[in-house]
Amino acid sequence: MAHEYRKRRRYTEEERRKIFESTDGRCHLCWQPLQFERYGQEWEIDHSRAVARGGSDYLRNLKPAHISCNRSKRDRDSRSVRRAKGAPPRAPLSKAKKAEVRKRRAIKRGIGGGLLGWLFSGPPGAAIGGLLGAASGLKDPDEEELRRRKGNGR
Ligand SMILES: [Zn+2]
Repeated sequence: MAHEYRKRRRYTEEERRKIFESTDGRCHLCWQPLQFERYGQEWEIDHSRAVARGGSDYLRNLKPAHISCNRSKRDRDSRSVRRAKGAPPRAPLSKAKKAEVRKRRAIKRGIGGGLLGWLFSGPPGAAIGGLLGAASGLKDPDEEELRRRKGNGR
């Protein structure tokens, strides 16, 4: 049966590597970092959306998770497990995705900072504000997300 096959599916080294990198090596449920070499002992591959709920075998539905986090998930969806663990509601981002977000944010915040700086002190303020804004945009978006949640007392 197709269902049996999916359950017992084995992953190649390359697939495991891709899945691991899709969250930049974090457990997608609790957001803690995982060690790639500890596949099968520390972490396993989770269907983010369960097969029973119509989730697919496509790589984008497959995420690395601690074995213990994955077991505690049972039939709940990923979002509610993350909430219960105090993690952000979305999955952690891959390195490539983070680079994209950083670039976009650096441009946006650079312009915003520049405008604010201009407002306060004209062209020199615009230069400083632009640089500060761009620098804040370059921070790791996942680290920012985690810090923000801690700041909110979570
Ligand atoms: Zn975990």
